[in-house]
Amino acid sequence: MTIAENLEIVKTAIKQASLNAVGGDKNCQLIAVSKTRPIEDVEAAIAAGQRIFGENRVQEAASKFPLLRERFDDLEVHLIGPLQSNKAGEAVGLFDVIHSVDRPKIAGALAKEIEKQGRTPRLFVQVNTGDEPQKAGVAPDDLRDFLELCIKTHGLQIEGLMCIPPVGDEPSVHFAFLRQLADRHGLATLSMGMSSDYETAVQFGADYVRVGTAIFGVRN
Ligand SMILES: *Cc1c(COP(=O)(O)O)cnc(C)c1O
Repeated sequence: MTIAENLEIVKTAIKQASLNAVGGDKNCQLIAVSKTRPIEDVEAAIAAGQRIFGENRVQEAASKFPLLRERFDDLEVHLIGPLQSNKAGEAVGLFDVIHSVDRPKIAGALAKEIEKQGRTPRLFVQVNTGDEPQKAGVAPDDLRDFLELCIKTHGLQIEGLMCIPPVGDEPSVHFAFLRQLADRHGLATLSMGMSSDYETAVQFGADYVRVGTAIFGVRN
């Protein structure tokens, strides 16, 4: 299968799943996760009409997307991986959307850089819906305080929530929970679902699914 064929399959599956979505068809957007993939693979996806890409490392994104943006002015680049506060400046300059806001230090660093650069990426707070000790994200119990810190203390505009369900758990439980948390806090947008569970995520109201393997193949 080519990247173009895989993209077509994934987009069709998203359309199909959205027919049964809670809250109706939200026109879920596909983020093609191009981490570890060479620039040629990104170009193949662009040639097939894809414009939204996800990367999980600032450095890797910096090596690919500024060049591509010179040739394609309508690309949207999303940071979906953890952010270190010393990379906040680079991240604010590079990304259109950051899905991994999850610590006071990051919120503060982003606010400072947004002010300094006059560039404002759209921001999602990552929630550790499974309360896993090793996983990034705000604990659900801490979400209220963290959002208040982001919004009131730092003046950040938070668009939505992101989660990565624990491996082995039924993902729909986490997707429903994330949606409930977003509703509770008046946040509109949900980033959830990967190659193994994006159709379920769409059914549970995802606005963005983040799909790598099903488009580009298995990573090394
Ligand atoms: C790698 C990654 C994805 C994509 O995973 P696939 O299983 O390859 O679709 C989605 N979200 C995050 C946060 C990731 O790091």
